[in-house]
Amino acid sequence: MEALKCKDVIVEFLADYLDRTLPPELTEEVERHLRGCAACMAYLNTYRRTRDLVGRHAAQGGMPDEMKGLLRRFMVERMARQAP
Ligand SMILES: [Zn+2]
Repeated sequence: MEALKCKDVIVEFLADYLDRTLPPELTEEVERHLRGCAACMAYLNTYRRTRDLVGRHAAQGGMPDEMKGLLRRFMVERMARQAP
């Protein structure tokens, strides 16, 4: 499998990774990328913090889809701005 790009990690896999619904081989790929990528680690931490915050207020755990979409768009936009 080809190495993941930041966009792949953030757009495709991050939410599932945190929900632990990614297949093991993809989890491994994401973790490998995260270890070598400070930018994605920062996004991961932001995502996790936001989700925890939301989770505390939500009746049942988990992030509402609306919030997921919002956060994802925020990340993609930031990523686009940082791209060379
Ligand atoms: Zn990255």
